[in-house]
Amino acid sequence: MRQRLDRPNLTRLTRLGFVNAYLVHEEAGLTLVDTMISGSADGIMAAAGELGRPLRRIVLTHGHGDHVGSLDALSQRLPEAEIAISTRESRLLAGDRVLDASEPASKIRGSWPTVSTAPTRLLEPGDRVGSLRVIAAPGHTPGHIALMDERDGTLIAGDAYSTLAGISTGGHTNRRFPLVAMATWDRETANRTAASLRELEPAALAVGHGPVIASPVAAMDRALEAVGMAGRRAAA
Ligand SMILES: [Zn+2]
Repeated sequence: MRQRLDRPNLTRLTRLGFVNAYLVHEEAGLTLVDTMISGSADGIMAAAGELGRPLRRIVLTHGHGDHVGSLDALSQRLPEAEIAISTRESRLLAGDRVLDASEPASKIRGSWPTVSTAPTRLLEPGDRVGSLRVIAAPGHTPGHIALMDERDGTLIAGDAYSTLAGISTGGHTNRRFPLVAMATWDRETANRTAASLRELEPAALAVGHGPVIASPVAAMDRALEAVGMAGRRAAA
């Protein structure tokens, strides 16, 4: 597993060259954002150990297998850790694929492994997880969230954007790395979310697949342009 300090408070962990998770450094310990594919727990624990701080919390951006794959193994090793996911996504994590009446009737895609770990905390937009503010970011999945580090404006966007082989929204197929868009539930919602995240003017963009981009707003605009969303303010 490769690890890299991409921001003052953010270590990016990468496996297979394209699957990311993040360790967010806090005074009181570390927050892990996403858990990669199965078989990643040892590497994640070793990376946390090297940082010399306890791993206190695990936050999931969404329930796809490449983000929750090592959740059960980690929660066994960390029985005290808080496990957080959005209220909406928790139903999907528990195997309930029923869409709400208010949601687009698109097909839920991607891999959804059975997870036995129950979240200990359900998140709503505006909630705080340490220094991270929870932002609703539906589209790739119905309950997908993004996390803004209020200390330095780093936005951890999960699969709302992809930066591998160029930047794309989660609703746009990048032919050189189509994995994210192929797993997206509702492209229109995903593209609206991408536009709303751009309006936050993050100082850095950290995603589930691909490198962290510093000063990413111009790159986000390019990705939005490719889906006809450039210059459009995000709809409510
Ligand atoms: Zn995904």
